Amino acid sequence: MTSARALVLTAPRTFEARDYELPVIGEDDGLLRVEACGCCGTDHEQYTGELHPGYAFVPGHETVGTVVEVGPRAAERWGVRRGDRVAVEVFQSCRECPACRAGEYRRCTRHGLADMYGFVRAERAPGLWGGFAQYQYLAPDSLLLPVPDGLDPVVATAFNPLGAGIRWGVTVPGTGPGDVVAVLGPGIRGLSAAAAAKEAGAGFVMVTGYGERDAPRLALAPRFGADLTVDVARDDPVRALRGAVGRLADVVVDVTAKAPAALGQAVALARAGGTVVVAGTRGSLDTPGFVPDLVVYKELRILGALGVDAPAYRAALDLLARDTYPFAQLPRRVVGLDGVEDLLRSMAGDGEPPPVHGVVTP
Ligand SMILES: [Zn+2]
Ligand SMILES: [Zn+2]
Repeated sequence: MTSARALVLTAPRTFEARDYELPVIGEDDGLLRVEACGCCGTDHEQYTGELHPGYAFVPGHETVGTVVEVGPRAAERWGVRRGDRVAVEVFQSCRECPACRAGEYRRCTRHGLADMYGFVRAERAPGLWGGFAQYQYLAPDSLLLPVPDGLDPVVATAFNPLGAGIRWGVTVPGTGPGDVVAVLGPGIRGLSAAAAAKEAGAGFVMVTGYGERDAPRLALAPRFGADLTVDVARDDPVRALRGAVGRLADVVVDVTAKAPAALGQAVALARAGGTVVVAGTRGSLDTPGFVPDLVVYKELRILGALGVDAPAYRAALDLLARDTYPFAQLPRRVVGLDGVEDLLRSMAGDGEPPPVHGVVTP
């Protein structure tokens, strides 16, 4: 193979299939054969234009694949060899600046947000900067995570949402044994946060959803560690939680998308001195039912969480390999490059109902 087929998002809702010549790999870089790339809200927002950067690029930032070429210095730096299966961290790290040394490589002074895989200009050589392509270029400052042997690459793409669930549901709030945890939102990140909390020893986990659309997802939640599921369109989650455990939550994790009422529910669900992690975006200034004074009276800790980091991704890959929770059986739609547009459209809410997990196998 001397060239790779890639999907370029040239403008909102406009994909163009292009063939890129495979780059010549030197001492410091590498090349990945993409086996699978997971899709999340970012992908469909890039597609519809909510998050389109205004230039052409190859999307796809939840990539799993096999290293087919790697320079000797890169192999040493990344700890990989040709033939290894790896997951690619979205962000790059110079490994030297103060942010990188502190583990905050998302704020790397050399790379930062500008060099995120799945968001780099298609004009920048070699063009293959995203997972919606047969091959992805591995730049020298890439971060690669080894995929445990035997873990299917399609299932392994859940490293991204499960990494988020671990960081948002456990690391950021400090969830520990016996905690009562409420997870708002039953998508793949919510299910992941529930599983992660249970794995960290949570004593009781509640997962909430809204209405018909979420019913099938709520039905899955018990297999991902939920002890109680609540449809907030029908039932008051505070009353439901009190009814089940006799008290409010130590930790509330809000991973809802475009659910303005979730913040009010999160604050109401938290016990005095409890922690609320806000990881879902509203896309709106409205927060119906949010009583700011409760933050004061309850002395809540409200923490924002945006991204994930390599330790959480590693823990996610280990948990996936242990197969404790049925990530392999999640309702999943797997498409080739020719099915990407249709998949992203359904994830954006037009057309058929979105799958819990969408994966591209280029
Ligand atoms: Zn993503
Ligand atoms: Zn750096």
